[in-house]
Amino acid sequence: MGLFIDLAINNETCKGIQECGECIEVCPVNVFQDEGGSLQTVYDNEDECTLCDMCIQKCPVDALAIVKHY
Ligand code: SF4
Ligand code: SF4
Repeated sequence: MGLFIDLAINNETCKGIQECGECIEVCPVNVFQDEGGSLQTVYDNEDECTLCDMCIQKCPVDALAIVKHY
């Protein structure tokens, strides 16, 4: 969990890294990572999120949300 921002992943709808992985590709600050085939966030990088919205736009199944704590 970031101090200011959490990137919430809906793992029920996420297509998975093998099939998709778009969010990993587009994020300029490496918020997402492949952890043994499962999509996870890098907690230390969540607060680096630039709010560029690229991951949300690229996600084909709306599995991502930015949760602001401010
Ligand atoms: S909004 Fe941009 S910076 Fe933030 S997690 Fe998505 S792609 Fe990365
Ligand atoms: S872009 Fe969406 S569906 Fe694709 S890996 Fe990321 S969260 Fe999952």
